[in-house]
Amino acid sequence: MLAEAAGADALTGVERGGAQDADTVTGDEQIHLVPGRLGTPRHEEPKGGTGRVLGPGRDVDEQSGHAVSLRGRGSASERPVSGYDTPAMNDDTPSLATPYRTHTCGQLRATDAGATARLAGWVHRRRDHGQLIFLDLRDRHGITQVVIDKADAPVAHEDASRVRPEFVLSVVGTVAPRLPGTENSKLPTGAIELQATEVDILSEAKTPPFYINDPDAPVDEILRLKYRYLDIRREPMQQRLMLRSRMVQAIREVHHANGFVEVETPTLIKSTPEGARDFIVPSRLQPGMVYALPQSPQQLKQLLMVAGIDRYMQIARCYRDEDMRGDRQLEFTQLDLEMSFVDEAAVMGFVEAMAIEVSRRTVPERPILETPFPKMTYEEALERFGSDKPDVRFAMELVDLAPALVGADGLAASGFGVFDTTLAAGGRVKAVVAPGMAGITRREIDELTDRARRFGAKGLAYLALEPGGEVKGPITKFLSADTQRALIERSGAGEGDLILIVADRAEVTADVLGRLRVELGDRLGLADPNVLSYVWINRFPMYQWDAENGRWHATHNPFSGVLPDDEVLLETASGDPTRPAPEDPAGRARALQYDLALNGWELGGGSIRIHRRALLERSLLLQGHSLEAMQEKFGAVLDAFEYGAPPHGGIAFGIDRWAALLAFQTNIREVTAFPKTQSGTDPMLDAPSVPEPGQYEELGLRFVGVPEKQGQEP
Ligand code: ASP
Repeated sequence: MLAEAAGADALTGVERGGAQDADTVTGDEQIHLVPGRLGTPRHEEPKGGTGRVLGPGRDVDEQSGHAVSLRGRGSASERPVSGYDTPAMNDDTPSLATPYRTHTCGQLRATDAGATARLAGWVHRRRDHGQLIFLDLRDRHGITQVVIDKADAPVAHEDASRVRPEFVLSVVGTVAPRLPGTENSKLPTGAIELQATEVDILSEAKTPPFYINDPDAPVDEILRLKYRYLDIRREPMQQRLMLRSRMVQAIREVHHANGFVEVETPTLIKSTPEGARDFIVPSRLQPGMVYALPQSPQQLKQLLMVAGIDRYMQIARCYRDEDMRGDRQLEFTQLDLEMSFVDEAAVMGFVEAMAIEVSRRTVPERPILETPFPKMTYEEALERFGSDKPDVRFAMELVDLAPALVGADGLAASGFGVFDTTLAAGGRVKAVVAPGMAGITRREIDELTDRARRFGAKGLAYLALEPGGEVKGPITKFLSADTQRALIERSGAGEGDLILIVADRAEVTADVLGRLRVELGDRLGLADPNVLSYVWINRFPMYQWDAENGRWHATHNPFSGVLPDDEVLLETASGDPTRPAPEDPAGRARALQYDLALNGWELGGGSIRIHRRALLERSLLLQGHSLEAMQEKFGAVLDAFEYGAPPHGGIAFGIDRWAALLAFQTNIREVTAFPKTQSGTDPMLDAPSVPEPGQYEELGLRFVGVPEKQGQEP
């Protein structure tokens, strides 16, 4: 089973992954196009007997009798330095030769010297030295230097003199070693150049709106999105899209190897509530009706379990009409999976092994902090990290200060009113210790306090432990020396540290300190950016009270199962299931829900589902759906459960988030080929747009303006 094989030794496997890689890299050492002599010195007349010539359209395969890997040659330690030598293709891709090229621009090596080759690509750089014109020709595999000598190839020289950056060329020439001292060790092709005899201009190019050949040039993001096809030509985007492609390939392979069936589900469906606003699509065939775009294939994958598809997976496009953030777009891609006859441990076991394997295959050089992945309950995560998606690459855990503030009688009597009243009211007084930050300036403290307020706290108290033992901070005047000592001891702070304290309702204290912890951890460089720290969170509450609508709201999705021990709690206090109230036992029920966090982001979430109609109805009643309403919304699943439903559960992973984290990005736009701006527009396609004349009429619609409350949460 993969779970054992991959889960057991994740870290040693990282090295193994690298070694395997090296094998495939070196696997084609023997492939040489031309068994001829080792090239000619630059610009010398080639002498006879240079061996076979590889013409356009001929398979490299045919010539060599070997499969060609585009990964280039050399051991893993000689890995290409340039990003343009991205190993984008599978190793078993035989050849990318076409009538326009015999090789890619990242392929030729010193061992090819003497061969005739044809390359196609974009002009990355052009240097005109009069007699000699140098062109760096680029495709997504690499860059090859092409030289055109007026004396040897006057027509090609004439053509090359018209060439500008980003022109598309197909160039024929002889592969020659570069003169000693002119090799470029940064390019995998840097030992050779192509001495061109023919330059065909396939397409001309206007001056691009930004530098394509400078990966570090700062470019306004709107401009990047408007000219995304040019932005994607640049090295960083190429790299990231390749990484994402490798990641998705690994995901598919691991699932297929583990008995999953890939099934596509429709994107014109009926709403499956996942907590966001739906995108709706008016139906022409059923006037006055709408489809919803899926927020996730949740109901469909559960129906596939009832259908007997045992293990389902899909790389599914999902849509949620909500405000965008770094980790959210209106449309996004999920790895969606569901399994039958499983319990929580079985799903988590597979998913963990899959995540390890996908990480290894995609970024073998990045270590995984801990395997098996650490697991904590929702309660523990909030208590220790103030977050249900904790970044556990660094400690700086939240400390409960209450024991240092209450007297022997159990009553809070620290002398500082805010602490005492908060504790007396059942709130929490907790802290984080920022190492080495005792020297913080007044202005910085004000900024932190502002942040804390913006996060929802009423204020931020602090104690700075100056080197030498002096304790500073406005609250010192309220606290006795003993209390101060107890508090410092409790916090674990030492000289030079800063203790930041929040006193508030439990949720606010956790949330504010959790966010400050992440910000400070980042500022102090406490998290190793290279490390991947996966962590499981489970035992979430089934429901949260929705005061506005007087109902329980499923914390994750409406179908999540309940811990067997807690099933008895799915009750209202009044005994009437249609009258949920905040004091209901249901509020204490824990869900069979598990989330996987990675470096502080929620990467995936799923659950073991309820698979019995009666129990699902009970849960949906608590969620405020009448029997009629639930039949209307979830009728297919409820009815299906009457025809033999296997116990089942699954999870969904944000593919964009995963790719972003593996590619060291903080915004999923950076791993999305064509993302939307913050305001939901696509500056390249100019979407959304006013409908064509007649489009509304055909649907029986008229735009009457936006209601005033538009944009507010319902
Ligand atoms: N459908 C859920 C989501 O999109 C995931 C799951 O429970 O499988 O978050």
